[in-house]
Amino acid sequence: MNSLRDCLQQAQQSHRAIGHFNISDLVALKAVFAAAQELKVPVIVGLSEGEREFVGTRQIAAFVRSLRDEFEFPIFLNADHTHSLAKGLEAARAGFDSIVFDLSALPFEENIRQTKQAAEELKSINPSMLVEGEIGDIGSGSEIHKTAPDLSKGLSTPEQAKQFVESTGVDILAPAVGNMHGMLKSMIDGETKKHLHIDRIAAIKQASGALLTLHGGSGTDDHDFREAIAAGINIVHINTELRVAWRHGLDESLARQPDEVVPYKILPPVVDAVKQVAASRLRLFSD
Ligand SMILES: [Zn+2]
Repeated sequence: MNSLRDCLQQAQQSHRAIGHFNISDLVALKAVFAAAQELKVPVIVGLSEGEREFVGTRQIAAFVRSLRDEFEFPIFLNADHTHSLAKGLEAARAGFDSIVFDLSALPFEENIRQTKQAAEELKSINPSMLVEGEIGDIGSGSEIHKTAPDLSKGLSTPEQAKQFVESTGVDILAPAVGNMHGMLKSMIDGETKKHLHIDRIAAIKQASGALLTLHGGSGTDDHDFREAIAAGINIVHINTELRVAWRHGLDESLARQPDEVVPYKILPPVVDAVKQVAASRLRLFSD
C-alpha cells in the first residue's frame, strides 16, 4: 500500500491534486469513500479539532484504517486545523497520516518557532506523519458567511513561504492565495465564484519547493482550480460544499418521507447528495 507521501509525489508528477474532504459523521465518510472508489483515486478525509471532538480521534482513525485495509484502498486521514501541540500529539498517537498544525493567527516569527517545535515532537511519535504548516490569513469557519472578509493583506509571499518551509521543516505548506474558508450565500446560489492568485501560487511553489495545500476550496471557479493545480497545488480542501449537500440532502429526504424513523432509510439519499459533490470535485482534481 502506498503511503500518503507516495500518493502526493505521484500526483505532483502527473499534475493532479488529491482531494481532502472534511467529515463529521459516517454519512459523509461513506460518501467520500464511495466517490473515491468509483473514480479510483486516492483521497484524504480530514477532521478539525471540533470534528474530532464529535467523532472521536481514535475511533475515526480505527474506522478509516479498517476501510483502507479491507478494500486495500488509498484513503488517508488528516488532523485538520490543529491549534495546540496536545491535540496534535493525540492525533499522532492515534495514527493519523498527516496534520495541519495551524498557528497562522500568530505573528510570523512565533508561528515559525512553534511550528518547528511541534513538527519535531510530532515526528518523534510518528516519523511517517506528514506535517503541514500554515501562513497568511484565509479566514475561519467552513460555514456560510454573510459578508466577505478582507483577506487582501493576509496573502502569503514567496519569501515568507521559503523562509517558513526552510525554518520549520514542514512537509507541506498551506499558503493564502485568494482562498477563503467558508462560502458566501451568493456562492451557494452559484452566482459568484472564488478566484485564486495563480501567479502567486507558481512563485510560492518555485521559492519553497514544498508540497502545497489549498484550503477553503469550496465555491472556487473550476478553471481557477485547474490553473492552481498546474501551478503547484497538491491537495485541495473541500468542506462547506459537502456540508451544504449534507444539509440539503437531509432536508429533502425528511420532507419526502415525513413519517420515516429508520436512520438507514432516511440517510442513503444524504450519502448520495454528498457523494455527488465529492465525485465532481475529485474528477476535476484528477483530470
Ligand atoms: Zn482549512
